[in-house]
Amino acid sequence: MELSLDNIQAQIHPSWYSAAEELLPLVGPIVWPYEGTVQADILVDEEWEVLIQLENDKVLSFSCTCGDESPICIHVVAVLLKLQLEQE
Ligand SMILES: [Zn+2]
Repeated sequence: MELSLDNIQAQIHPSWYSAAEELLPLVGPIVWPYEGTVQADILVDEEWEVLIQLENDKVLSFSCTCGDESPICIHVVAVLLKLQLEQE
């Protein structure tokens, strides 16, 4: 799944986008433990940890501890949205 940070809304199904927007307040502070790596916790039922690898605005890979086997989980989308908002 190819993703870039500059226009997430155009790349995500609209229902997912609005669901992820609702989760935005549940996303904890975004940290950059290494260059090009974003980490954030999100508390939805349980606390999940999202890791995203970025190169400039391009999303190289992502993972989430929730274990959802979809191509991308809603927690990752919510963190991407928060990241996009913080970069604006
Ligand atoms: Zn998840």
